[in-house]
Amino acid sequence: MGHLELKNLSVQFGGLKAVNNLDLSVAQGELRCLLGPNGAGKSTTLDLICGKTAATSGQILFEGRDITGLSEHRRARLGIGRKFQTPSVFKELTVLENMEIARSQNPGILASGFVFRTHIRGRLKEVLELVELKDHVHTKAGNLSHGQTQWLEIAMLLIQDAKLILMDEPTAGMTIQETRRTGEIFNSLKGHHTMIVVEHDMTFVRQIAETVTVMELGALLAQGSIEEIENDPKVRAAYLGN
Ligand code: ADP
Ligand code: MG
Repeated sequence: MGHLELKNLSVQFGGLKAVNNLDLSVAQGELRCLLGPNGAGKSTTLDLICGKTAATSGQILFEGRDITGLSEHRRARLGIGRKFQTPSVFKELTVLENMEIARSQNPGILASGFVFRTHIRGRLKEVLELVELKDHVHTKAGNLSHGQTQWLEIAMLLIQDAKLILMDEPTAGMTIQETRRTGEIFNSLKGHHTMIVVEHDMTFVRQIAETVTVMELGALLAQGSIEEIENDPKVRAAYLGN
């Protein structure tokens, strides 16, 4: 049983099956890369998992529990965190204030005793160090570079203890150096958080990939190691259109 399981999942928009009978199983602590040409249904798949979009048919199991009918809010409380293409940080607030807000969303805060508060303070330091924002705690989020803003958003998911992190093209617009550092961050999260990362940058995919899933026209096209995927004639045809 995977940490996350999609079973025969579909969503239809008018006449279009944006996701079509998709089966997917992601293990606890795994980083799964999701690839596919534009319009393949990658973003919609993330929308279905986080509850932004309701499935037309099929099932979503998270930690063995059927979450198909739960609201986006309920799923967030279960530990499903979504990072959108456009970062949703508060630009007028500092890095630390943004982290405080994210931290207040941590489900554990409800049981917030001294031990928990001490733990979370240590964790805050650790997370800000990981994303290299330790020296920018008092910087307004609006003054961060594009890459730093993306990292702040990742840090906000980490301080919420998101168990499943969904990321849609996290390196879009990043410099080569920022992309490489992002890969290092993701690699260090393996085993601790389950992640699904939609990406186009193949250098980045090679840096982080374990198993790669390729979608086309809402359905599963291929799945395997990065080498298997790159040598798969079906995948080449989907990307090159021949
Ligand atoms: P990808 O992220 O792989 O590029 P998307 O999941 O964004 O693809 O889109 C898959 C298909 O579903 C596209 O044809 C897109 O136009 C369509 N689509 C996505 N969201 C909606 C929506 N809310 N209403 C109608 N069509 C949509
Ligand atoms: Mg997309």
